[in-house]
Amino acid sequence: MHSQTEQVYQQVLSRDPNEREFQQAVYTFLLSIDKIIDELPEVTYHRVLERMVEPERVVMFRVPWMDDEGKCQVNRGFRVQMSSAIGPYKGGLRLHPSVNLSIMKFLAFEQVFKNSLTGLPMGGGKGGSDFNPKGKSDNEVMRFCQSFMTELCRHIGPDTDVPAGDIGVGAREIGYLYGQYKRIKNEFAGVLTGKGIEYGGSFIRPEATGYGLVYLSEAILRDKKMDFNGATCLVSGSGNVAQFTVEKINALGGKVITLSDSSGMIIDEAGIDSEKLSFVKTLKNVKRGRIKEYAEKYGVPYIERNNSEPNPLWNIKADYAFPCATQNEILKEDALNLVKNGIKLVGEGANMPCSIESEEILTSSGVLLAPAKAANAGGVAVSGLEMSQNSQRLRWTPEKVDQELKGIMNNIYKNISEAAETYSKKDNFIDGANIAGFMKVSRAMIAQGYV
Ligand code: NDP
Repeated sequence: MHSQTEQVYQQVLSRDPNEREFQQAVYTFLLSIDKIIDELPEVTYHRVLERMVEPERVVMFRVPWMDDEGKCQVNRGFRVQMSSAIGPYKGGLRLHPSVNLSIMKFLAFEQVFKNSLTGLPMGGGKGGSDFNPKGKSDNEVMRFCQSFMTELCRHIGPDTDVPAGDIGVGAREIGYLYGQYKRIKNEFAGVLTGKGIEYGGSFIRPEATGYGLVYLSEAILRDKKMDFNGATCLVSGSGNVAQFTVEKINALGGKVITLSDSSGMIIDEAGIDSEKLSFVKTLKNVKRGRIKEYAEKYGVPYIERNNSEPNPLWNIKADYAFPCATQNEILKEDALNLVKNGIKLVGEGANMPCSIESEEILTSSGVLLAPAKAANAGGVAVSGLEMSQNSQRLRWTPEKVDQELKGIMNNIYKNISEAAETYSKKDNFIDGANIAGFMKVSRAMIAQGYV
């Protein structure tokens, strides 16, 4: 590492010694910035990197709520406002028992550069809680969301910070959160995105991350004279991003043969067609069931998850792979299996799904790797379009939003591939995304002085 970036990394290690995920996100980012740091003396002079790795603000708060037995439960809430250099803080809320400050900071850090890549004026943030929605009644989820928003509403606003969904936060949670914000503030404002279509949401927002992932992957493949038609694909997860990734792959003539959740995975060699996909949507979004029920319904193999082994999902012969569950779901052995099985492209739907080692294995083996910052930016891009529609007090048609999304993803591909070729090497989209995302934020920070 360059002495300048090494110094910044050491500062993070000593200041945040227990924040493993945050350190990982910073490290991979700095490895890319290494390649341009000598050409940017103003970045060193103005200590841009040192400022970037320190959030502008972190809010941590108690979230007390009453369960169905009338007992008080207490969770911890977070909002990390990482950077407002190019716009109001923007980024999702995650509800999952694993949520801690390190995970919030890594997600907020990634979000800064992802939002920059969309070309829209959005800063970066992330929030959430260690609340586990699994197994909770609708009333418990509502009481939790109301308590969470009672504190969060002091820190957000349509021109300040605009949260959205992430793991564990879908249409139901956004509705409860929005209702409570409105009630406290007495204003119908565009303060959350991913809202229902009846109350200010945008068409194509639920679809946007999955569709965007496939659009960006399509752009990469097009340059290599490849496409989805007839291709076999692996998808992990079975939530929002996974569902719409499958939908778009099907539309382009591909075949998806896997889905998973934290308990296990299914393999359906015949392909998850539109009828089976609509079963998954109802199972996960309405019944809040487990993917095991897919195996029972369609009589296909189910493999229970064993965290101590390589993930069998990444050890199946296929053309393209789309991790759409969570961070670090592709580890060293998984990457070796993907390479052995001849995978040609890995498109990151989840945030930071590949460990540092697995990224190295994939890229050095010639696998095309579409990094999350670029590949899953479609969700936040359409969130940005939802903010525009809210400000204009009108709603665009689904066709218009989808067209805009496609244009944004193609533009992201153009920018990251050009940055890769100029500053790193052809097809190193990790460097391309980090560098292209960084340039704009860095220039805005320098222009605004030491804030
Ligand atoms: P959902 O909550 O809709 O679905 C998450 C899926 O991943 C579920 O199948 C879940 O299984 C599985 N999963 C979650 N945590 C783990 C874990 N620790 N181990 C194994 N499986 C796990 O979330 P999304 O689809 O919205 O998000 C998926 C990924 O995409 C996340 O990394 C998120 O940050 C990223 N992302 C999402 C965007 C969006 O617009 N929603 C935008 C950009 C990125 P189970 O039901 O068992 O928990």
